[in-house]
Amino acid sequence: MIRSRFIWRLYAGTVALILLTASLIGFFVSRNIVGQSLQDTENDLRTKALFLARVYREAVADGDLSSLQDEVRGMGEETESRLTVIGADGAVLADSDADPVRMDDHGSRAEILAARKSGIGSSTRYSDTVGREMMYVALSVRDGEEIVGYVRAAFPLVDVSRRLAHIRNVIAAIAGLSSLAALLLGFFFARRVTGPLRQMTRAAIAVAGGDYEREFEVRSRDEIGALAGAFNTMIEQLRSRMETIVLDRNKLLAILSSMVEGVVAIDRSEKILHLNLAAARILDVDREQAIGNKIAEVTGMPEVRETLARAIREEREIVLETNLGTAAGKRKIEMRASPLRDGDERLAGAVLVFSDMTELRRLEAVRRDFVANVSHELKTPVTAIRGLVETLIDDAEMPPDRKLDFLRRVHDQSMRLSSLITDLLTVSSVESREWAPEIERIDLRETARRSMRNLRALGETKGLAMETDLPAEPVFAYADADAMRQIVDNLLDNAVKYTPAGGRVRVRVRPDGARAVVEVEDNGVGIHPKYHARIFERFYRIDKARSRELGGTGLGLAIVKHLVLALGGTIDVESEEGKGSVFRARMPANAPAASSRSAPTLFEDRAG
Ligand code: ADP
Repeated sequence: MIRSRFIWRLYAGTVALILLTASLIGFFVSRNIVGQSLQDTENDLRTKALFLARVYREAVADGDLSSLQDEVRGMGEETESRLTVIGADGAVLADSDADPVRMDDHGSRAEILAARKSGIGSSTRYSDTVGREMMYVALSVRDGEEIVGYVRAAFPLVDVSRRLAHIRNVIAAIAGLSSLAALLLGFFFARRVTGPLRQMTRAAIAVAGGDYEREFEVRSRDEIGALAGAFNTMIEQLRSRMETIVLDRNKLLAILSSMVEGVVAIDRSEKILHLNLAAARILDVDREQAIGNKIAEVTGMPEVRETLARAIREEREIVLETNLGTAAGKRKIEMRASPLRDGDERLAGAVLVFSDMTELRRLEAVRRDFVANVSHELKTPVTAIRGLVETLIDDAEMPPDRKLDFLRRVHDQSMRLSSLITDLLTVSSVESREWAPEIERIDLRETARRSMRNLRALGETKGLAMETDLPAEPVFAYADADAMRQIVDNLLDNAVKYTPAGGRVRVRVRPDGARAVVEVEDNGVGIHPKYHARIFERFYRIDKARSRELGGTGLGLAIVKHLVLALGGTIDVESEEGKGSVFRARMPANAPAASSRSAPTLFEDRAG
């Protein structure tokens, strides 16, 4: 459409110009030629009349007009024109084409009247005598001042007209042909001008549609060529800028989508511009559907909308920590909304960053509890020692056996303090990031034997049967030997502690597919299943008083669980109240892959 309109407008102008020029030239040329031709005819007739005048004057001078008629007839034939001689009175004396006797008085003919007045006269009119349109030129013939007659030369105008018509036709044909040629050339040039423009239009449309691979062939060196060159440069720049923009955008999207924090950006009308995966998860919405919709329509959480609205209204950062009921349950979310500005620093909307603080707050709580627990645990023996020692100091008269009892109790409490500190140091050491287990192939039977050696005396003193159940073949595990020993020591220590006199404690080692299993079994007090998960928590004891009495710190199983997990194993317990317990550690029996997983810290691991 554009193409045809432009080419036709350009072409129509050319056509009009060519036709106007051709017709003007045709018109003026033919008018000129017609005028010139009539003038020529008239001049020609005047020359002939001059000749005839001389002939007539001679005849008049001779006084003999008898041969005039013959002479005039002869001259008329020779000059192919009609010649007439008229007397001063208007009577026709001789005529080349007619018999003068039959001709009427010619004194009143227009050309004669004019010749009488000014010596020469011309007229164009119909001749009754010859019966056609004629051009006449008449001259007066004088003898001194006196007019002695008139001579007249005439030519039929039909011949002039015919000649003129021919000339006009030739001119029209030339004008027509040159116009046609000009029209064709004009069309060709118009196409040459509009062709590249059309091409450029198509390319511009393609570029607008995102096709930056379009390129122009720059053929001409004129303005259109320069335009095409500029166009190509522009496309190239657009392409490189688009690439940069797309790259930046993708980088930003990659960063946003890999962020743990949720990010929502809205414009001033509160429509969502961007929402990353984490935010979609927190708000429990479909990411694709949410973008472009108003935040209030997308989420039913008024806090989110209000925080964003405040950041826009007050044009400052708003920070708020709140409990949000998300798909993952109630979470402590910190919302940080900041105003969003465009390139001109104008307020364009707001961006909200959600940080899930649940875990952090929980860890803080766990740490607080831990410190409180540790302080409490330390305080108890210290208070007891202080009380005992103060009594000893105050009561100088105390009988020696009572004094001894007091001192023994001080000793017990300091032992308790010591084991508490030992356990705390163990916790601190295994929890420290520097601790990395030294994984090697160890025979679990060896570990079991060593632990049994350590605790046999203690158990037997208490009246327990201390047994080992080990296969003849080695049971290999990939583990840290020290950590493994500590695990079995702790389990065995507990079994001894929580099994009354006369009971039995047994360590069993066996292979089980990809695992090497250590079981510590007793038939002691047992544990109600409702405590099975909790006993692995730090400082958790079913019966605090009894544990304390037995020298327990509440950290033993927490350390066991942490070490087992750090070595890639699992721990579980089978137990019923009053029937005894089995603690089972299942360790990897095969060499670990190159990258061994890092141990969770005691604090990260909720249950342990
Ligand atoms: P503690 O130093 O008090 O023994 P642990 O972390 O080792 O602390 O154990 C936590 C609690 O689990 C103990 O207080 C005890 O109630 C229970 N428990 C652990 N081992 C046994 C067992 N073999 N038999 C019965 N109860 C046990």
